[in-house]
Amino acid sequence: MAGVTLAGVSKDYGAIKVIRDVSLSINQGEFVVFVGPSGCGKSTLLRMVAGFEGITGGDVLIGGNRVNDMAARDRGVAMVFQNYALYPHMTARENMAFGLKNIGTPKAEVTDRIAKASAILQLEPYLDRKPRQLSGGQRQRVAIGRAIMREPDVFLFDEPLSNLDAALRVSMRTEIAKLHHRLGATMIYVTHDQTEAMTMADRIVVLRAGQIEQVGAPIELYERPTNAFVAGFLGAPRINLVPATVAELDGENVALACPGDARVSAKVRVGSARVGDKVTLGLRPEILTPTDEGSLTGTVDVVEQLGSLQLVYATLADGTSIVSELRGGAAPAIGSVARFAIGSGTRHVFDGDQSSITRFPGEAS
Ligand code: ADP
Ligand code: MG
Repeated sequence: MAGVTLAGVSKDYGAIKVIRDVSLSINQGEFVVFVGPSGCGKSTLLRMVAGFEGITGGDVLIGGNRVNDMAARDRGVAMVFQNYALYPHMTARENMAFGLKNIGTPKAEVTDRIAKASAILQLEPYLDRKPRQLSGGQRQRVAIGRAIMREPDVFLFDEPLSNLDAALRVSMRTEIAKLHHRLGATMIYVTHDQTEAMTMADRIVVLRAGQIEQVGAPIELYERPTNAFVAGFLGAPRINLVPATVAELDGENVALACPGDARVSAKVRVGSARVGDKVTLGLRPEILTPTDEGSLTGTVDVVEQLGSLQLVYATLADGTSIVSELRGGAAPAIGSVARFAIGSGTRHVFDGDQSSITRFPGEAS
């Protein structure tokens, strides 16, 4: 078992800086998810840990050992890819055995490990099938089985569920979480899907343009995002970001002038704002409700019926789109002007640079 440390890691392709000075310590046995938009460098970072990609600067340590110049096969890692990367002419069993046979593992040992891995993943009925005779989910289980066979210290997953349909994604998510629990191995999991990140991670690392924006437990990032990017990336539907101006200021209490002459109170860190500052008010959809008494006014665009919940989308006076949640009761009519009340829950405030200046509950001001 081993943890992974990235110390000032960077990667350039010529003049293009793809990873910029990333430092991070992943504990042994931890499940860490790298999340961020397409092209932000998630795969590159993972491949640098795996040893498939050279390192321009900094150090990668696995189990405390610097592995910058170590071959991928000697690092004690196994990677699972989005496209499964199975050999089409080999059966599931042969695919799983291939890597171990190559390094001269005794046949009995290989057989034993196939039995164990296929029991964990319920692959026994499919072992003699070739990839084309398997569904996407079964193929991905074979690919995960192949990784388990190597008994790695560190598992690396690069968007392993992206090619699966929605229902299968949900069940495989649970499978991987169970696998982590069972094996207790360190796992680094890359995804662009905030739901996977929120549900699977011990800690989430949010990446943007090759840099870490924030690291923390899912709920910590959700409740206390350090900037509007992190706030916008985690949570579905997305957080509402409403342009506002600081109209009044008294210590940590601000009154924000919002579109349509609305006034909204919020709390900011003392000294972080001045009257007249342009800021952004961040309101999660779950604290916004359409009612007759609300402070924000908008024209209703769409109502989505999700069963226990309705999502009411509207446009504010300045053109900002918002989404609110309604639990029970009738939604306002499409095209009507409705009011939206802000319930209890954090009112995020972001400054002109989109950094959070929110004074969070329980935090020293
Ligand atoms: P992600 O996995 O987050 O979608 P990647 O790690 O695949 O992102 O890519 C990060 C950035 O690096 C992208 O902008 C991509 O175009 C660039 N990139 C990846 N490989 C190369 C390469 N061989 N040469 C130049 N740029 C590359
Ligand atoms: Mg990628």
